Amino acid sequence: MASVVNDSCIKCLTCVDVCPVGAFVELDTQVVVNPDTCIDCGVCISECPQGAIAADGDADEKWVKFNAEKAAAAG
Ligand code: SF4
Ligand code: SF4
Repeated sequence: MASVVNDSCIKCLTCVDVCPVGAFVELDTQVVVNPDTCIDCGVCISECPQGAIAADGDADEKWVKFNAEKAAAAG
């Protein structure tokens, strides 16, 4: 399980600051979560001012794939 970010993200970086394991990866216009790093603590979900983060079970499969692929591409 992991959290997932959608394109409502405005890259405010609040989630980057609160994540205890550094799971967020910064892209040009938004952040995504590396599912291999996320420990599913849930802290970031309530901190996002855009409501852009959800547990992967609650997110559209499109965003689950997007986060995993972009995080993998970023190394
Ligand atoms: S807190 Fe929300 S809007 Fe801000 S960078 Fe994270 S996902 Fe994007
Ligand atoms: S759920 Fe926790 S570990 Fe996963 S990205 Fe959010 S703050 Fe980081």
